[in-house]
Amino acid sequence: MIAMRMTQAAPMLFGTGSLQMLGDELKMRGLKKPVIITDKGVTGAGVTEKVKSVVKEAGLECAVWDNCLSDAPTDSVDAAAAAARDAGADAIIALGGGSSMDTAKAASLSINNNKTILEIMGPPPSEAMGPPPPPCEPDVPIFTIPTTSGTGSEVTTVAVLVNSENLKKCGVVITGSALAIVDPELTVGVPPQITAMTGMDVVAHAVEAITGVMRNPMSDLKGYEALRLVNAHLYDAVKDGTNITARTGMSFASSLAGLAFSDSITTLGHAISQALASVHHLHHGLICGLATPPQLELFATVVPERVRKIGEIFGADIPFDATPEQIGKIAADKLRVFMSQIGIQSFEQMGYARKDITDHVGLLMDEMMKDFSPCEITKDIAYNALDRMYDYKGA
Ligand code: NAD
Repeated sequence: MIAMRMTQAAPMLFGTGSLQMLGDELKMRGLKKPVIITDKGVTGAGVTEKVKSVVKEAGLECAVWDNCLSDAPTDSVDAAAAAARDAGADAIIALGGGSSMDTAKAASLSINNNKTILEIMGPPPSEAMGPPPPPCEPDVPIFTIPTTSGTGSEVTTVAVLVNSENLKKCGVVITGSALAIVDPELTVGVPPQITAMTGMDVVAHAVEAITGVMRNPMSDLKGYEALRLVNAHLYDAVKDGTNITARTGMSFASSLAGLAFSDSITTLGHAISQALASVHHLHHGLICGLATPPQLELFATVVPERVRKIGEIFGADIPFDATPEQIGKIAADKLRVFMSQIGIQSFEQMGYARKDITDHVGLLMDEMMKDFSPCEITKDIAYNALDRMYDYKGA
């Protein structure tokens, strides 16, 4: 049997100014009292007010809760759900980067009940018996509006959270948002460093989607195009955040890569990010980005032509008779150059010792996501990937 999963999680409105459609989109669904769930950074950048004005101009009430925290701790999901409940919200506007969109997506599951998100999620998959549970249905429609270009969360069926009890990353699968509105204008205020780190999340999603065992023709299509757009636009978006062509390219790349990994699942790089996130509070896209060159070196031994194509998208010149190991090294080094050009720092530059990274190989081995990699990840291989991440020299 061949059964390739091709997820179509959310319809999407895309383009500069598409935010203006939000009021009509709410009204045509009979919704009257949305709540914007977001964070203080987004509010500080003036984006929350912009979105609220569009809703109010459509003649609708609009509450705001802007206390989302970085990496969506489960406690803050419960607080967001309580705020939406108290406001009598009939829709959720999930506004922000991945942290806020995921908080809002998860909060949508407990508007009509008093369960905590941890109760809704139940035990983690490794402790749970039987097949995985079906995706959860939101209690009210969710409108996802990204203000960064990285996670693709606006079109994915997962909310990535941090369990406030043990600080481990976890996730809940949701059926999807009613509508994603991707307006690149909302990203112009993202500072250069966050633009670069979130951009590397796009690279990681696309690379892992293209090379992972669950890949299919649709995830290939979206993944390769996302990388082409990153190569064309990320440097310009970092150098000048007001460059709307570059912002548009990155917004589209981010959604494409989110769709790509929705089908094929992320692999070793995201397993590394999940593992390290519980011990070092580093930006998700940064760790995923740092993990990508070592992944290219490793995965080239099993999927050399895919790694060749990825390297060539970033301008690598790879001889036709190169060995898999050479393909991996050339592609990875080319990506390292790109990363240094956009200002991605090394662990050493950020003050970490090598053992601060390699000591956590045990945590990495506990991460299920690594098993979607195209080769078996033994403890030695996992250690080597962490060690190679540390070798990156930085900007
Ligand atoms: P983020 O949401 O944590 O935001 C980073 C910072 O940027 C915050 O301080 C925020 O206030 C600020 N910011 C956001 N938009 C801004 C704007 N327009 N102007 C100025 N500042 C702005 O970062 P992120 O990379 O978007 O999200 C990371 C999170 O997403 C992680 O927790 C990760 O696990 C999760 N994630 C989820 C998915 C998914 O499919 N659900 C996929 C990948 C990552």
